[in-house]
Order: sequence, then structure tokens, then C-alpha cells
Amino acid sequence: MRKDFVKTDDKEVAARIMEMMKESGAHLEGHFKLTSGLHSGHYIQCALMLRFPEFAAYAGEMIAERIAHKKPDIILSPALGGLIIGHEVARSLGVPFIFCERLEGVMRLRRFPHPGKLRFALIEDVVTTGKSSRETAQILAEGGAEWVSSASIIDRRANDTHKDWDLVSLWKLSFPIYEEHSCPLCKEGLPLVKPGSRPG
Ligand SMILES: [Zn+2]
Repeated sequence: MRKDFVKTDDKEVAARIMEMMKESGAHLEGHFKLTSGLHSGHYIQCALMLRFPEFAAYAGEMIAERIAHKKPDIILSPALGGLIIGHEVARSLGVPFIFCERLEGVMRLRRFPHPGKLRFALIEDVVTTGKSSRETAQILAEGGAEWVSSASIIDRRANDTHKDWDLVSLWKLSFPIYEEHSCPLCKEGLPLVKPGSRPG
């Protein structure tokens, strides 16, 4: 693993990530139903940013800088959203990358042997509630691996959730989110869009 990581200033990184989202068309504005069920006027579709390899490499390098001190032996991501960023982080740290995928509703490590009692970092594109993060990490933790770090490009969690959970992110979203019954965008009658790939 590389030893020469110097952490770039957090504000500088967040500003650059915001720019990259705008430039790539990944920052959508309108009326969206988030994975959590809450409504928002903003949605970040990370895949649109990650289609540009130089942007993906930058995000991966910045996450790597922030978790290198935890010395993960391997990177784990959930497919599909975590594939590109997880791979970039692993490349930057010089460690292997594996992924799990949802089969019949359950997260499984389908294509890889369990890595055993290694230290692993969980890498995702966006964390919305943290529920699927825990489910993903559990797969390796159950086999004796140690969950040493979690990181995402975007932290979309509500401010009052999971204070106990140490999530590293490059951009903490602060756009307002609404319950359906109190959503001003619903009151305006704007059509509701449910982006993303998760069913339900
Ligand atoms: Zn609404």
C-alpha cells in the first residue's frame, strides 16, 4: 500500500466534486422521490459523473486519501452503484476490490471467495439511509473480516440519523428533504420522479 497520502483540503474536494456533478449533468433539479421515500428538489445521479474516468479517478483518490490510515486490506462495494468508485479507491490504495450483489432480495458475495479475517473498507457512491451499507458489510463481518472504514462520494443521510456511524464522504448534501405530506413541491403540483435503479 502507498504511504505517501497527503489529505487534500475537505472544502476544496467538496467544491470540486460539486463542480464535477454539474459539469457531467449528474446534479438534477426538479421533484424527486429518494430511495428513503422522502422528497427533494435535487437528485445526484452519480453514474453520470462516474462515466468520465478522470472524474471517477479523482473521487477514488480523494476517498483513498481519507481512509488510507485505516489500512484496509481489501475494498468491498455493493453492485451496481459501488462498482466504479470502489474499484478506483482500491486502485489508489493498491489493494484488491470485490463486490456483492443483490440476488432475490438478499446481498450475497456471489463471485468471490470470502476473503477471511482481513480488514475491509466499504465503498459506495451514495449513502442515503445506511441500511444497505450495514447489510453489505455484514457479509464480510460474518466471516470474521474487520469493518475498518466506510466511505462514499455523497452522504445524503438526514442529519439526525446514524450519528454513531463513522462515514467518510466527499460531499455531505444539505439540500432540503421533505416528508410527502409536507413537501412544497407536491403542493406546487410538480410531477414526482423516482430516479435510480432500485425497485420498490
Ligand atoms: Zn413532493
